[in-house]
Amino acid sequence: MSLLKVPALAASLCVLHATFAPAAPTPSSGHYSLEDFQHVDKIDAHLHIHGPAEQFMAEAIRDGFRVLTINVDYPDFPPLDRQQHDAIALRKKYPGRVAFAAAFSVADFQSPDWAANQLSHLDAAFAQGAVGVKVWKNIGMTLRDPDGQYVMVDDPRLKPIFDRLERSNIVVLGHQAEPLNCWLPFEKMTIRSDQDYFREHPQYYMYHHPEVPSHEAQLAARDHLLTQHPGLRFDSVHLASLEWDVTRLAQFLDRFPKANVDVAARMSHLEYQATRNREKVRQFLIRYQDRILYGTDVAVEPDDATATAAEAHKTWLEDWRFLNTAGKMHSTEFGPAFRGLALPKAVVEKIYSGNARKMYPGAWD
Ligand SMILES: [Zn+2]
Repeated sequence: MSLLKVPALAASLCVLHATFAPAAPTPSSGHYSLEDFQHVDKIDAHLHIHGPAEQFMAEAIRDGFRVLTINVDYPDFPPLDRQQHDAIALRKKYPGRVAFAAAFSVADFQSPDWAANQLSHLDAAFAQGAVGVKVWKNIGMTLRDPDGQYVMVDDPRLKPIFDRLERSNIVVLGHQAEPLNCWLPFEKMTIRSDQDYFREHPQYYMYHHPEVPSHEAQLAARDHLLTQHPGLRFDSVHLASLEWDVTRLAQFLDRFPKANVDVAARMSHLEYQATRNREKVRQFLIRYQDRILYGTDVAVEPDDATATAAEAHKTWLEDWRFLNTAGKMHSTEFGPAFRGLALPKAVVEKIYSGNARKMYPGAWD
């Protein structure tokens, strides 16, 4: 995609012109249109790609996307070693296009050597190019000690790992808790896919599991971790599990200046808020334009079905429409209509690539 080079070229031309016309508009003024979608350099900073993913990668390249594929200690995904093997292979096959984040396993958590073993596993991943480490909701929601107590993300046994990541400037991608809908009865949930997910995964549907630490307790443990590690570079994925209210999200970002958030699998929650107060959502994205990363959470299975590539294309295009245009939109997730946010180009460029490149320097060089 030679057109991916256009912004850089435009920027250098602008420097030449600046000698004659200092007041010339920057290349990033105004808004992007739907037609610009394929031609703007973009990064999907939250994907889970398994297997060779040839059809998916062809779609990503067509649509102008670079990707960050994230390994997760998730029983529905292939084993962690397999995930890491696939990520390394993709990075080699698509240099400058694919970056990856590693994960550690808690299978052997009760062993006294657990942290040391996982640190050497992570060192091997960094040597192979990993740019971050995912910490998943199993910590806080499923991992338990023999006495039945849940292990929270600020547990002292995890400290050696976070100490090392903080010292080494490695990004932690933290998924703690779940959407607030997870703690609500089905009829109170705002988003249809949340209803579907928790119907299909009753083990993660916390409304029926009051014995598991609450939404507030999960977020308090995460916030305590960040307080204990003020230098930790943290991508609080899924809008930091504060997806239902941009005011709460703003408070989180103000409190933890080293933390960023991604919008993965939560864009519909922003759209839902936009049905009620579009300007509030728009102002939030503009105010925190340096702290937000674009991502979708699309998962590519090893068989790389054509349907996944098509679904990713549709999601990418609808998200682009919501953030860039001012048109009236409908979502399959809820009833009311809403309007696109028509964000300024410069804000879109940061959310879609600038912030990810700052967070993961060199990841896509
Ligand atoms: Zn994910």
